[in-house]
Amino acid sequence: MTSTESGTAAAESPPRPLEDGFPAVRASLADAERLLVCLDFDGTLAPIVDEPDAARPTDDNRRAVARLADHQDVTTAVVSGRALRDVRDRIDGPAIYAGNHGLELARRGSIAVHPVARKRAARIDRLCAVLETTLASIPNVRIENKRLSGTVHFRSVPPAARPVARRLTTAVFEAFSGGALELSRGKRILEIGPSIPWGKGNAVELIAADKPPGTATVYVGDDVTDESAFRAVEPGGIGVRVGGDGPSAASYRVESPAGVASLLSLLEDVVSPDPVRRP
Ligand SMILES: [Mg+2]
Repeated sequence: MTSTESGTAAAESPPRPLEDGFPAVRASLADAERLLVCLDFDGTLAPIVDEPDAARPTDDNRRAVARLADHQDVTTAVVSGRALRDVRDRIDGPAIYAGNHGLELARRGSIAVHPVARKRAARIDRLCAVLETTLASIPNVRIENKRLSGTVHFRSVPPAARPVARRLTTAVFEAFSGGALELSRGKRILEIGPSIPWGKGNAVELIAADKPPGTATVYVGDDVTDESAFRAVEPGGIGVRVGGDGPSAASYRVESPAGVASLLSLLEDVVSPDPVRRP
């Protein structure tokens, strides 16, 4: 497995459609004794919706995750930008949950929190409170305090008001971060988290390091923060990006959460070949 740092953007190209790569994916996973399947939540298992609280996995994805989670040769993990407690309430089954882009990790019956992130939580809390006041006049903006990080959601903000909302968010960030926090962009969101070199890719490496030799890792995600996780699993494992047409560290792409269900079925086939013929 490569380290998170080893992938370079220069080598990246648009991923190929998964349906063109089914035989290759099947072949590359055929020799694996076990699978580790790591899944982003929003935009991957669940369609993106205007109101983040309304996000639910598609029925097909929910059922496929449950089946994979029950399989003795598969470990499933959800790796989300949502707070751990939030994402855990939205999808049942996985053995492992990583929240806040990997800053908190629930596995083997306990929760580990990145120690620097824990120290900076009070600063995030203050910043979210200031944003609530500063952005009060922006229609439908939503500030989500996730304890270890904060997200400003612009999806429901009228397009004409979004530039002002982004400018105000950036100004508050610059005034209150004190060099301890960083601001990053996602899909119609701005995220504020601790300025530490730790992301989804690091969480996936930590999860994968726990698995026995012979485990192949698959990572599926749709946003910029998923790129570090694609780099963590490729080329020994398989990265699959959901949507988008730009360059990526993932080798394959599917169009939507419906395409994720096809991928999960393929993974089920790989670990349970011809299940009906089993004695
Ligand atoms: Mg996502």
